[in-house]
Amino acid sequence: MSAEPVIADHENQPDQSFRDSLATVDAKGKRKWVYAQKPEGPFYRVRTYVSWFFFALLFTLPFIYVHGQPFFLFNIPNAKFILFGKVFWPQDFFIFGLTMVTFVVFIILFTAAFGRLFCGWVCPQTIFMEMLFRKIEYAIEGNAAKQKLLNAAPWTGHKIAVKTTKYISFYLLSFLIANTFLSYIIGSKALWKIITEPLSEHLVGLLSIIVFSTVFYAVYAYFREQVCTVICPYGRLQSVLLDPNSMIVAYDYKRGEPRGKFTKQEDSQLGDCIDCFQCVKVCPTAIDIRNGTQMECVSCTACIDACDHMMTSVGRPKGLIRYASEQGISRGEKIKYTTRMRLYTGLLCLLSVILGTLLATRKDVDATIMRTPGMLYQERGKDSLTNLYNIKIANKTINDIPLSIKLEDLNGKIEVIGGPTIRVKKEEEGSGSFFVVLPIERIHQRKTEIRLGLYEGDRKIDVIKTNFLGPVPGSDSD
Ligand code: SF4
Ligand code: SF4
Repeated sequence: MSAEPVIADHENQPDQSFRDSLATVDAKGKRKWVYAQKPEGPFYRVRTYVSWFFFALLFTLPFIYVHGQPFFLFNIPNAKFILFGKVFWPQDFFIFGLTMVTFVVFIILFTAAFGRLFCGWVCPQTIFMEMLFRKIEYAIEGNAAKQKLLNAAPWTGHKIAVKTTKYISFYLLSFLIANTFLSYIIGSKALWKIITEPLSEHLVGLLSIIVFSTVFYAVYAYFREQVCTVICPYGRLQSVLLDPNSMIVAYDYKRGEPRGKFTKQEDSQLGDCIDCFQCVKVCPTAIDIRNGTQMECVSCTACIDACDHMMTSVGRPKGLIRYASEQGISRGEKIKYTTRMRLYTGLLCLLSVILGTLLATRKDVDATIMRTPGMLYQERGKDSLTNLYNIKIANKTINDIPLSIKLEDLNGKIEVIGGPTIRVKKEEEGSGSFFVVLPIERIHQRKTEIRLGLYEGDRKIDVIKTNFLGPVPGSDSD
């Protein structure tokens, strides 16, 4: 390693040659395996606690049932979704669409303000990789240097034993994740059936578990950082989502350059970076953050911890690598909660409230009422007119609903064909027909707007407006 100071000129004609190649691919296009050193420090500790919370949520949510119904379910094959115990149907597509739009706006605003905070702190790929698989690897194979030595060593009994232990542990963990993942799709009770009943009755389920386990295993044992640096679409969008005011993990080149080996000389012309490469050694994507913002950076903060440790060791202030914006670094400012961030946070909260209100006020029963096609009005005796209607009802609840229909604010009656109520089974669609009978003296125009109340017992579920057809005014109805 050169002892000469190296100056990264970030402001004027920066040397961007590092962008011509991937840190994890060599000149021949072969994958360079990343041996990331185990991070230590306050950020890593807090991330560990956050990951515990994340794992507790992830592994318990599919097992929470309310009134016999999963609290969360994402049954994509059957288009059935349950969020917070509420069943969502294809009829709720507009809520789904709005959720997607909110999600996209959320991502754009959040990233513009806070960079890849999500990737480093809560993305399942990062958390599983860094907080589970990587930790198991450290426990079995040792830290980065030992792993490198072991990989370079010939295949001895010891190496076979260590590698076998690691890969079996990885597969078992992938199997656990695959089962959890599947229980979000089919429900934990259905998963339990696959596990406990004869396998011949659940071949598709079994195959799904094996495929998911193998995919997870391949991702965490082999693909690893490639998922973030090559495959993840969110990572690819960073160049358009970030701007100079976005909060990123950044190297303070103003303070750090010109870098060079540590010296105690008071009159040294060097900056604070002692060129120890600790920030590079801990980086799970093998980049050198001192080169500037890079798409491969997943904002994991490992380099912040590493650099803070080095700064403390040499008696210099922490924060040479820190959360900051590019503007903040060029002006030598620490990260601030700017007006722009406040604005975006406010907007994100507003969007969340709108979506939350929509979800909370979503109707449990969707009904459509239409007059029977091709039929006008009929006379009933000398003093009444009737119209025939068809009703379609989607029951999104987990209980059967005996639905009755009443006229709101109008004298008259409803005659449901086949009985006083229409029974709609839970999570199914039902239909029926009914007559609305109105006194003839109430009909003064060809179309009279009426309001029909849908009731379960005395509980009003919904009110639907429709038209009642009568004779054209002035015509003789006899
Ligand atoms: S540069 Fe730092 S924050 Fe970015 S991925 Fe590497 S270690 Fe994590
Ligand atoms: S850890 Fe800090 S001091 Fe060491 S090379 Fe990285 S930026 Fe420089």
